[in-house]
Amino acid sequence: MALEWKKNVREVTPYIPGEQPQEGKLIKLNTNENPYPPAPGIKKLISDADTERFRLYPDPDVTELVDALAEYHGVGGDMIFVGVGSDDVLAISFLTFFNSDKPILFPDITYSFYDVWADLFKIKYETPALGEDFTINTKDYIRPNGGIIIANPNAPTSVAMEPAAIQSIVASNGGSVVIIDEAYVDFGGKSVLSLTEKYDNLLVVRTYSKSRSMAGMRIGYAVGNPELIKALNSVKGSFNSYTMNMLSIVLGVESLKDEEYFRSVIGKIINTREKTGVSLERLGFKVLPSLTNFLFATHETVPASVIFEELKKENIYVRYFDKPLIDNFLRITIGTDEEMDIFLKKIGGIIKNFKKMKKGVDI
Ligand code: PMP
Repeated sequence: MALEWKKNVREVTPYIPGEQPQEGKLIKLNTNENPYPPAPGIKKLISDADTERFRLYPDPDVTELVDALAEYHGVGGDMIFVGVGSDDVLAISFLTFFNSDKPILFPDITYSFYDVWADLFKIKYETPALGEDFTINTKDYIRPNGGIIIANPNAPTSVAMEPAAIQSIVASNGGSVVIIDEAYVDFGGKSVLSLTEKYDNLLVVRTYSKSRSMAGMRIGYAVGNPELIKALNSVKGSFNSYTMNMLSIVLGVESLKDEEYFRSVIGKIINTREKTGVSLERLGFKVLPSLTNFLFATHETVPASVIFEELKKENIYVRYFDKPLIDNFLRITIGTDEEMDIFLKKIGGIIKNFKKMKKGVDI
C-alpha cells in the first residue's frame, strides 16, 4: 500500500520514559517517583470530592491553584503558570520562547526530553559538553543564543549548580529566556526562584511529581515575570483551554498546606540517599554527588548494562541510558530504607557473581 499521506506526517522520535509495569511485586527505582504517599489531607479530599461538579469544565485560569502557589512562594499570582506536570509546562515554554534563528543551548547530558521538544518544534539547538566531573561550565552559556534551558540539579547526573553561576548566565542573556528546570531542587539544591523578581528573562519550572509524591496527578508550574506568564498563557490558550482537571487543581492546593509532612518526606529521602551512596561506594561504585532523589553511579568493574539486566531479573527496576558518555552509569531512584536494603543486597550479589564468573573465565 502506498500510504501517500505519509509524506506529510510530522516525523518525531518520542521521549522514552522509564518502564511503568502495572502488575507484580517489584521495587521500582527507575522513574524518580517518591516512595512515600502524598500528604494525608489528599486522601480525605478525594473521598469528599464533589463529583457533581465534574460535569462542568474546570476553571481555565486555574485561579485557585495559581493563587495558592503565589502565596506559597511569596510572589504575585501574575507570576505563576500551571500545567499538566512540568513536561507540559516545559513543552509550552519551548513553543512560546524558543522561536529564534539562533540555536538554543542546553548541556550534552541532561533531561532527554529537551532535544525531543526542540526537534518537534523545529528549534535549532547546541549542546555544550559537561566537564569531566559532570559540572556545567558557565562560560559555555555566554554567547549568542535563542534561549537556554538548564536542569538544576541536572538529570540524570544529579549534580547541582550554584545560584551565583545561574545568575551570571541569566544576567548575561537579557535578550533570551533562560529556563531553569528545578524538578529536583527540593532535595537539597539551591533554588533561583527568588531571582524571578529581579530578572525578566528567568523562568523557573517546578513539579509536584517528585518531592510532593504526586506524579500520578500531573501538576507542574512555572514562576517568572508577568510578561513571561502572559506569553505562556497566550500560547496555552491557543492550544487547549482546559489543561488541568478539577481534581488535580484542588489536590495541588491541599498539598501546599502541609509543610511539615512535605519536609519530613524530603528529610527521609535525603537520609536514605546518603546511606545508600556510602553503601554503593563500599561495593566499588563511583557515585556522583547528588542533591536529588536519585543517585547516578558507575561500577569499577561490572558494566552498568549487566547490573541493569540482572536487577530486572530480581524485579528491581533502575534506569539505564544506552547513550554516549553515560552508558556505564545507572540512575537509581531513592526508595524507602527497606527497598534500598533489598536493592543493596541484590546488587552486592550481582557484583560478587560477576567477579566470580570473570575469575573462572580468566583461569
Ligand atoms: N524535568 C526533569 C529534569 C525531569 O527529570 C522530569 C521527570 N521525568 C520532568 C522535568 C518532568 O516531570 P513531570 O512532568 O512529572 O513534572
